[in-house]
Amino acid sequence: MADGLQTVTLLGATGSIGVNTLRVLQQHPERYRLYALTAQHNTALLAEQCRQFRPRYAVLTTEAAAAEVKGLLQDVPETEVLLGPEALAAVASAAEVTTVMAAIVGGAGLLPTLAAASSGKKVLLANKEALVMAGELFLEVARQSGSLILPIDSEHNAIFQCLPMDATARFDHDPRHGVAKLMLTASGGPFRTWPAERFATITPEQACAHPNWRMGRKISVDSATLVNKGLELIEASYLFAMPPQAIDVLIHPQSVIHSLVHYRDGSVLAQLGNPDMRTPIAYGLAWPARIDAGVESLDLARLATLQFEAPDLQRFPGLALGRQAAEARGAAPIVYNAANEVAVEAFLAGRLGFSRIPAMIAEALQRLVLPGPRSLAEVLDIDARSRALSRQLLVQASSSS
Ligand code: NAD
Ligand code: MG
Repeated sequence: MADGLQTVTLLGATGSIGVNTLRVLQQHPERYRLYALTAQHNTALLAEQCRQFRPRYAVLTTEAAAAEVKGLLQDVPETEVLLGPEALAAVASAAEVTTVMAAIVGGAGLLPTLAAASSGKKVLLANKEALVMAGELFLEVARQSGSLILPIDSEHNAIFQCLPMDATARFDHDPRHGVAKLMLTASGGPFRTWPAERFATITPEQACAHPNWRMGRKISVDSATLVNKGLELIEASYLFAMPPQAIDVLIHPQSVIHSLVHYRDGSVLAQLGNPDMRTPIAYGLAWPARIDAGVESLDLARLATLQFEAPDLQRFPGLALGRQAAEARGAAPIVYNAANEVAVEAFLAGRLGFSRIPAMIAEALQRLVLPGPRSLAEVLDIDARSRALSRQLLVQASSSS
């Protein structure tokens, strides 16, 4: 990186974070060069992105998608099309790459993100599920390789900005820093004011219509159930090595304060900004410098009011379950994440009611009490067992209804 040029692999280029990352990169061609773009289904968009950014590689996950992109890129000889999980790991760990944006959604992001972390890359971590699943193992791998892990999730990025981080992008917990607690903000999602009786009628379209952020469908549903905040609580407890008891959640419907750190002397530091993921993306890309993100400056006079309230754990039990999993540690966060992924997929496919999502997670957590993983193989095994159990619960639910 001597010339200041970063060579970037973008995992999940066609998603909401992927597209926003390209919007930031596009503004700074002198600082960033693309090495690889990856996607699952959206072949037309990936081909268009390759045509514009001319990366060395485009990686797809199915043969059909790879063949389609190859056809679309016949006149783009700079970009070679690759296929499959080994290719994903290879472009995340290639020697030429300095920086990896981990923006694949769900557990599918774990292995390529881990490949980046174990090969010493600067990892811009949007994919929270990878950290929720592999927790300390993930961070240990990064420590050993010297990989910098920079949180892109807006809340964690805000906390990162409000804590005294060292040159390795870690918080050293020296008591002189006087950190008392972390406060994660949450918009409350589209059903914040809905009575519980209406939850059974919620459709995927309603759940994906987030009031402040335009995101992928899975994380939109997670925001609507507040499971996203449960995942983020687990993510924060690993990332900043804080006990879950020292992490609170505050509902803040405007999503302008992205999170806060409370200090022992009564000071509270917060990071504010318009709800636009280009801000944390730009911060991660350039850290410790700051660059233009293309985001409009915050106008507090125009906003006039900011609201706050405590989360309602009765209507949103997914958050309480997240705290339970965070406190239990070990296998529980993996089970929480896997059961949620299976339930959300079924909800989006119209096969499971909205209120059944936390119910299924609760049942999985109750039934699968396993020792914590000591290796990546054990993480994957717990994940597979949780998904199998959740699918079984789904079948039982549909045959009894
Ligand atoms: P998205 O659904 O919009 O995009 C997901 C990307 O991952 C796409 O490029 C897709 O092709 C790829 N992908 C999906 N399944 C895959 C698989 N099995 N194998 C390989 N690639 C696959 O999701 P998003 O909203 O961009 O979120 C991405 C990640 O970032 C998630 O983990 C999410 O929790 C996190 N995140 C997103 C936001 C946001 O504003 N969107 C904010 C904070 C954190
Ligand atoms: Mg977030």
